[in-house]
Amino acid sequence: MKWNSIETFFLDMDGTLLDLAYDNYFWHEHVPLIFSKKNNIPFNEAKILLKKMYAENKNSLNWYSSNYWSERIEINLYLEIKRTRNKIKVFPGVKRLLSKIKAEGRVKIILLTNCPREMLHIKLDQTKLWRYFDKIISSEDYGYPKESKKFWKILENKLKYNKNKTAFIDDNVDVLKYAESSGIKYLFSVSIPDSKKQKKIIKDYESLENIGFFENKFID
Ligand SMILES: [Mg+2]
Repeated sequence: MKWNSIETFFLDMDGTLLDLAYDNYFWHEHVPLIFSKKNNIPFNEAKILLKKMYAENKNSLNWYSSNYWSERIEINLYLEIKRTRNKIKVFPGVKRLLSKIKAEGRVKIILLTNCPREMLHIKLDQTKLWRYFDKIISSEDYGYPKESKKFWKILENKLKYNKNKTAFIDDNVDVLKYAESSGIKYLFSVSIPDSKKQKKIIKDYESLENIGFFENKFID
């Protein structure tokens, strides 16, 4: 693939630009700890209870919504995200790649994330990634997560882009499947979305360990 085969670059945030280790720490360690203290139950019990609640909301906007969870478990998660924000990390090579694309000025860089606006603000402020995007879209704005047909339909109506000249990187293979059905041509996944976990085997899409390697691996 050549740089000039694309005009639009859609990028996921968590697990693609930012290390998913933070989210896993936050939802599976930090929140259970606060929850266990608040409800006076052992940490492991809190972990199991929350895991069950998370699973019930999988693939829905609620699953991603810090507001929903704040109300549901009666903990101000906005405050907790702020408190732990120094653990949010950009993957190596991301800023170099984005700066380069931006400097050339030909390809539009658009963030497509399931992260709700409130949490997104903290993450982009903390990582200073704001400046690289031509547009930032949170699926919360559309009312449907990226793993839904409706999301891609709304995106198509709101944004003019040539699907044959669009690339999209997302660590979530389900999301890539919806993007593929909507007609986006170049799709890539990330095999190490969480630096603290093992490499994932990705069969259905081309993948890279870290998007910092994108140019070396996929651009001729
Ligand atoms: Mg992701």
